[in-house]
This record gives sequence, C-alpha cells and structure tokens, in this order.
Amino acid sequence: MARLIESRHHVSLDDYEGIAHLSMAVRELRQEAASLLPTLKGHRVWMVSSTSRGGGVAELLPPLLALLRELGVDANWLVMETDDQEFFRLTKRLHNLIHGHGDANLGQAERELYDKISHDTAEAVARHISSGDVLVIHDPQPLGAGAILRKRMDIAAIWRCHIGLDRKTPETRAAWTFLDACASAYDQAVFTAPEYIPGCLTGRATIMHPAIDPLTHKNRDLSVHKLVGILANGALIRPPGPMLTPPFPKPAERLQRDGSWAPAIEPEDIGLLYHPIVTQISRWDRLKGFLPLMNGFVSLKRDLENKTGLGERHRHSVQLARLVLAGPDPASVEDDPEGKEVLAKLCNAYVGLEPKFQDDIAIILLPMNSAKHNALLVNALQRCSDIVAQNSLQEGFGLTATEAMWKHAAVLGSNAAGLRQQIRPDLDGCLVTNPEDPHEIATTLDALLRDPWKRDMLGRRAQQRVHDEFLIFAQVRRWLVLIANTIK
Ligand code: UDP
Repeated sequence: MARLIESRHHVSLDDYEGIAHLSMAVRELRQEAASLLPTLKGHRVWMVSSTSRGGGVAELLPPLLALLRELGVDANWLVMETDDQEFFRLTKRLHNLIHGHGDANLGQAERELYDKISHDTAEAVARHISSGDVLVIHDPQPLGAGAILRKRMDIAAIWRCHIGLDRKTPETRAAWTFLDACASAYDQAVFTAPEYIPGCLTGRATIMHPAIDPLTHKNRDLSVHKLVGILANGALIRPPGPMLTPPFPKPAERLQRDGSWAPAIEPEDIGLLYHPIVTQISRWDRLKGFLPLMNGFVSLKRDLENKTGLGERHRHSVQLARLVLAGPDPASVEDDPEGKEVLAKLCNAYVGLEPKFQDDIAIILLPMNSAKHNALLVNALQRCSDIVAQNSLQEGFGLTATEAMWKHAAVLGSNAAGLRQQIRPDLDGCLVTNPEDPHEIATTLDALLRDPWKRDMLGRRAQQRVHDEFLIFAQVRRWLVLIANTIK
C-alpha cells in the first residue's frame, strides 16, 4: 500500500519575506520558479518515502512540498506502507552497510524479499501516478518500486539518497551491488556529498545539502516564557508556577533507576534550566553514538573526582552538568526495527551506572502522537541546552546538528563525513575524531563546559553558517532546476 500524506506545513512565502534577513533569498526563489514554471506545468511531482514520522526525511519533506506547491508545482507525498518487519530489517541492514557496517552477505532470499515488497509498493504507487509525472524516491526502501515504475511507465524518476560514506569498504560495495540494478533505472540521483556517489551512478548524480526551515515548529524562535511552558507541559521540567497552557496529550517519559519508564517530571528536574545541559536528540540507532556519548559524560564526571587544581568555576560547571539523551518513542516508529534493541542496550548501561551518575543523566522518550508537540519539544530541548551533541559514528548529514547550530548552540559533533561538512572545528562547533573514545568526548565536553565565551562564539558563527548555507530557500531552487531538467 502507499498512503497519501497531507501537508502539515502552514507557513507561506510571505511569512518568510516579512523577515528582514530572509527576504532576499525568498525573492530569488520566486524569480527562479517563475522562469521554470512553463516547463513544470502539467507535470505532477510525487515524493515517495518510507515513513512520515521520525528521522531526517520526514523532517525535510513537509516544508519542501509546501513551498513547491506555493510556487505553482503540483507536488505530493506518498508513504510506502508495509507491515513486513523483515523488509525493514533488510533495508536497515542496507542502511548500515552503506555506512560501512554489518553483515555483507546478501543472497537470494534478500533479493526475493526486496523485490516482492518493491513490486507491491510499485502497484500501490501506480494507482496514484500517471504518464508525464515525476517520481522523487527517497532512500533505499522505495528505490526498487521507483525503478519498476520508471521502466513500466512514461515518467521521469529521481532518486534522492540521504545516506552515504566517504570511503569504499566491502560493506558499501555489497550494498551498492545489491542496489545497482534499481538505482541504474533512474534518470537522476541526488547525494549529499560527492564522496557518497557509488560507481554505478557516476555521471548521473548531483549534490544537494539538506536544509532546514526557520519557521517550522522545530526551528522557530521561542520566547523564554513559551520554552518553559513547552518543557513543563511535556513533563520535562516541573512548572515554575501554574500551568499557562493546557497539558499536551501524553507526556514524555523518562527512564527510572529501576529500569521502568515514568513521566519525566522529578523534583530535581527543576534544575534543567539552571544546570549546564548537554543534549543529544536522535533516532535510537547504534550509529548515532548514544552509548559512547554517555560513557564519555560519565568519564568526565569520574575524572573530576581525581583532578586537582581546577578553578572553582570550572569544577562547578562540570559538577552540575546534566546529560539529556532523547529520541522518539520506538513503539511508534514503523521503519526502524533496531530502535528498540539500541534503546534497551543504552537503558541497561544506564541502570548499571552508579546512582550518583544516574542522577545526572536523563534518557527520555519523546511522544510521537503529535508532530507539532514532538517538534516543539525538540526545539525547546535544543534551545535550553548549552551543548548539543551529535556523536554519530557515521552520518550522511545530520539535520540535528543544523537545527542546533541555527539555535546558536555550541555543537559537539563527530568526524563523520556529514557533520564535517557542516561544522568547521573550533569555528562553528567542535568535532571529536573518534566518537567511540570516552576520553576524547570527556576532554571536548570539559573544554566547552568550562568556557561559556567559547560556547557563545561557536554558537554565533554556527547560526551564521546555517543562515548562509543550510536554509531551505536555496534547496527548493535546486529542486526546481533539477526537476525541470529531468523532464526535458
Ligand atoms: N527528530 C525528531 N524527534 C526525535 C528525534 C529526532 O523530530 O525524537 C528529528 C530531528 O530533530 C531531525 C531528524 O529527526 O530533524 C533527524 O535527522 P538527522 O539528519 O539528524 O538523522 P536521520 O534520522 O535522518 O539519520
């Protein structure tokens, strides 16, 4: 099955144009669209992805589709629907292999499973599309379906691959050999960095950076009053006074010492806003590096006990620091069967920590029942954080880093290719060279925690860099050009 998703985006180009530092980019976008519209008229565009919730693709599509529509393009969004968990296990394996990890032994059984679900999805998508349309397929899950349709119908097809690794390994080769026949059927492919383009697509791939929308609930400005309200209503902190807005439908849940989950409010949580906060918000994926980040944070706290000669201020900022590890409630994410296992491993490690370290760490499940609620919680958490970490072992781009940089946070990233593209070390953030090394993480956190001026300087530059390079307007322009060129 394929489900048509209604756009959830309620911002218009006029809203952006009214903001001084965005107006020029919007004007340029309108001009580009006006010149390309004669080519685009009469061609419907269909974006197809594997999920509408959780993860970078689900984040990118609503504003992209809304702006394309407003500019006159008939753009739509289909989500593939299958309850075959084996298929998502296989596509997760492919995802990991493209990042250089996992079992590279892909045989006949995997081929048959991938082809079967691709055929079912192609049938479902075919009910929506017609000749002359343009398919834009996101990531490997619906890649096979798009290839079938491209061969069968008079349509144009673009594959947008959001993942990649900057080197070739036996694992990446196995994944690309498996996907080659499907990927080769497309007119165009889009990658985030030139290093990610596999041999089979050389000459037919272009580069596009993901980008964020500054007016979504995830990224828009929040007054302090609103920020506190969101955190309190989401049960992430005890409200300082009477609640000013009605509570959200379901509070976030926080891991307890005994391993159970409970609403996140605890008396000491009132400290969230007064303690230096280090936060990482991601899907529960091994490659996101939650566990080594937690180990690094514990190592920082442990080292403090043995260190002498630290200034009082420095000692305090490390002593008071809290780590917040947050991600989606895995029960509500359809296409990520590994999420539960990764979270369970993290929780076991947390429960095994000495109580004094547990007190400084919060593992939080963010509710997914309302996209707006989830986005506002992520926004508020990133804004109240002194340091936002994205300690990924591999990362195609890392929208969470872009989001945090836009919010003027000091970002601790890793040397993963996608994060290196965004963060210039010591200019607009910090990078750890080995995200699995707790000592390096501890040292980097220590340097950031002790120096609020450095955090401020990094945050300012980071915000400027996102303004200049990673906002949505340039990205929409590039899509307009690419779609128009693919139709011709
Ligand atoms: N995200 C979210 N809620 C969560 C966890 C993540 O909205 O509980 C969002 C996050 O803000 C970001 C996206 O999911 O916009 C993750 O994109 P990224 O490129 O960092 O990683 P991906 O999940 O695509 O690998």
